[in-house]
Amino acid sequence: MTSRRDFLKTSAGVGVGAAVSLGSAQPLRGAPAVHKSVVVPVAVASGNGLEAVETAVRSVTQGGDTLDAVVEGVNIVERDPGDASVGFGGLPNLDGVVQLDSSVMHGPSRGAGAVACIEGIKTPSSVARDVMRYTDHVLLVGEGAQRFALSMGYQLEDLLTERSRRRWIEWRATMSDRDDYLTLEETGHAVPGSSRQEDYGLGLLDSHDGVRPQGTINCNVINSDGDLSGVTTTSGLAWKVPGRVGDSPIVGAGLYVDNDVGACGSTGRGEAVIKTCGSHSVVELMRSGMSPTDACLEALRRIVTFTVEPRLRNADGRPSFGVNYYAINKNGDHGGASIYSGGRYAVCRDGETRHEDLAYLFERRG
Ligand code: ASP
Repeated sequence: MTSRRDFLKTSAGVGVGAAVSLGSAQPLRGAPAVHKSVVVPVAVASGNGLEAVETAVRSVTQGGDTLDAVVEGVNIVERDPGDASVGFGGLPNLDGVVQLDSSVMHGPSRGAGAVACIEGIKTPSSVARDVMRYTDHVLLVGEGAQRFALSMGYQLEDLLTERSRRRWIEWRATMSDRDDYLTLEETGHAVPGSSRQEDYGLGLLDSHDGVRPQGTINCNVINSDGDLSGVTTTSGLAWKVPGRVGDSPIVGAGLYVDNDVGACGSTGRGEAVIKTCGSHSVVELMRSGMSPTDACLEALRRIVTFTVEPRLRNADGRPSFGVNYYAINKNGDHGGASIYSGGRYAVCRDGETRHEDLAYLFERRG
């Protein structure tokens, strides 16, 4: 009788053999040529990822694995209490609970791992990598994801900072005039002459679309052998319905890596990215020969086409939300695009780390 472990070993062997012979005999149709050992290492990330891209490129240049490199990069942002969009200090759901989403993909091994709605763990990207490395699964959610993380030695921590709690309290007070939560102006405890933001001890709210705070970090890297990996990690939409899962932990939506073609990840309104299989679409468009930037723009056009609900459209019929894509192809060319103008992404290449402008579909008005 064949044990489950023997079966897995055998099937893994068959899988690898099949992949190798397919790869050597018949490259995927339209895949860009593979240039072994001529690629300059490059990392791209969302605009909040300058440190992440620098860390990722340093790590692969020193011979580190591509996935370890990007996870090390985004861990910096996940642990930063000052970034209200990711990990520790991320804005909570409507109950005031921080729920995090993340996915990883490792190009050379074709591995993927993800966690969704995980609470109390500062670095969900590391847990997603552990799901890939230490289980037979791709996605763990909620309590199960947390229990898995604890079994792997992660610490349970309170992810709400004083600042993110205050933002949530402020939001709760302004949600409705028919409940019993009041703003400081309403209770008469506002400091005369101060703004509501100052009363709550807050800076200006940041947001992608000027309406609702949200944020994420995506980071993708290619090493000098042309191997790719990517990660996306987020606290998701602020004030979301508990249990809501965005695009970030969904393989093919918030992240996709095909080691023969390229890598892509997204930030912005996850629901729009999920419905159009966003990052997978970008990678497939690159496979058909498009540059990273053109592929990102084309995938954004699909989002515009899919946005038919009046509640999600401005008076001019365009989306009332933002989405950004960030991509690298197998040759190390990189690019990114946004629905509206004004966005930037982080790049590290040739020892230089900088922001570059995202291409866009529409000028931002006002
Ligand atoms: N994409 C994230 C989500 O929908 C949010 C963001 O990037 O701002 O959960």
